[in-house]
Amino acid sequence: MSEEKIYDLIIVGGGPAGLSAAIYASRAKLDTLVLEKNFVGGQMANTDIIENYPGFPDGVSGSDLVSRMEEQAEKFGAEIDFADIEGIEVDGAVKRLRTSEGDYLSRALIIATGTEQRKLGVKGEAEFTGRGVSYCAVCDGAFYTDKVIAVVGGGNSAVEEAVYLTNFASKVYLIHRRDSLRAEKLLQERLFANEKIEVVWNSVVTEIKGDKFVEAVSIKNLLSGEVKDLAVSGVFVYVGVVPNSQVFRGVLELDEWGYIRTNEEMETSVDGVFAAGDVRTSVLKQVITAAAEGAIAATFAEKYVREQVYFDQNISSGKRVVVVYSSITDEGREIVKCMSELEASNVIAIDGYKNSRISKKLNVEKFSAVRIFDNGKEVFSKDGVAVHEIVNMLKEQGIV
Ligand SMILES: Cc1cc2nc3c(=O)[nH]c(=O)nc-3n(C[C@H](O)[C@H](O)[C@H](O)COP(=O)(O)OP(=O)(O)OC[C@H]3O[C@@H](n4cnc5c(N)ncnc54)[C@H](O)[C@@H]3O)c2cc1C
Repeated sequence: MSEEKIYDLIIVGGGPAGLSAAIYASRAKLDTLVLEKNFVGGQMANTDIIENYPGFPDGVSGSDLVSRMEEQAEKFGAEIDFADIEGIEVDGAVKRLRTSEGDYLSRALIIATGTEQRKLGVKGEAEFTGRGVSYCAVCDGAFYTDKVIAVVGGGNSAVEEAVYLTNFASKVYLIHRRDSLRAEKLLQERLFANEKIEVVWNSVVTEIKGDKFVEAVSIKNLLSGEVKDLAVSGVFVYVGVVPNSQVFRGVLELDEWGYIRTNEEMETSVDGVFAAGDVRTSVLKQVITAAAEGAIAATFAEKYVREQVYFDQNISSGKRVVVVYSSITDEGREIVKCMSELEASNVIAIDGYKNSRISKKLNVEKFSAVRIFDNGKEVFSKDGVAVHEIVNMLKEQGIV
């Protein structure tokens, strides 16, 4: 990693949202880097079979889909590197990422850091993590061959993983706090048809016990108040997720649950910073939506970078006049005609109607607007200027 290098786009997170963004951005010829803190693929890499991603009627293994997306992104030139993002500085045109491996710079950012499993927060959970407590059935399931285990939760992930774990375990308790499951009906049918699974209703885990490894879970029945121990060798926790957005708190606007707010173009509250996938406020958190949002974010990040680069390059040296007009007005069309007739190389005419970001950047309140830059510094500014005034102004300034 070079301190000086400025990427067009850095994507934080190498899950399906990040990889899909990388495919779109690198195919659009943006100099693109994906930064991932763990392993490429995100939660998708930890999923045994994905049955609802279009194009795979027999399902596709999560790791297979990861490899295909990664290969596709790299084929178009995206780089993938490993670093944990610890902070971002986003004030200027160049964004700075502070990471475990040093600083990285880029013109635009896409945050695709996803979510992580919510912890139970009970005694023994932290102590036995990696020694019987797990948040990843695909990673750790095989360690529990012929053992009795517990899965905690009642949503899609808990039910899907409970069924998956019966490939290894001799018995799986599904411990759920309510008297019905939130999971999709199809998944529930599979669960209830599986003789290795016993659902423990209306119950919560109060403690995870053991010596060197997990030996039991204490559960409390919420209706009767009864507390008892179940002898298990492993506990898989699927009680919801929390967004990986802590490092962006105070920089990007988050919703009340900590998800990053964006508009439909995946723009966050900060210019040039986009978000996609499970980490953003959205109604469906799946591989297909993460991939789609990555594509949208990359498309608008590309537009942002091109406008930014074009603009910065054109005003950075000498005296430059920027005329911002609206192409949907007669006057705007007259300006275009007039500018092409004047053939002044140091006059930049920008359609502010189509390039709203540049209008915003130049604080244009009324078309047509004139800004004059001297070596990148704005030295003159006027809004609501008529065509003949612009021409006179250019003549007075000795520009035409
Ligand atoms: C058990 C389980 C089963 C599932 N089954 C299905 C299914 O069958 N079908 C389906 O469509 N969806 C399924 N999903 C949901 C799906 O996996 C997610 O919706 C999808 O992976 C979200 O993609 P993402 O790219 O937004 O985030 P993630 O996949 O979470 O990827 C985010 C990435 O960002 C990285 N990251 C986080 N913080 C940082 C940081 N500070 N610096 C650098 N990198 C960072 C993470 O390490 C991770 O690799 C399942 C999820 C789970 C947990």
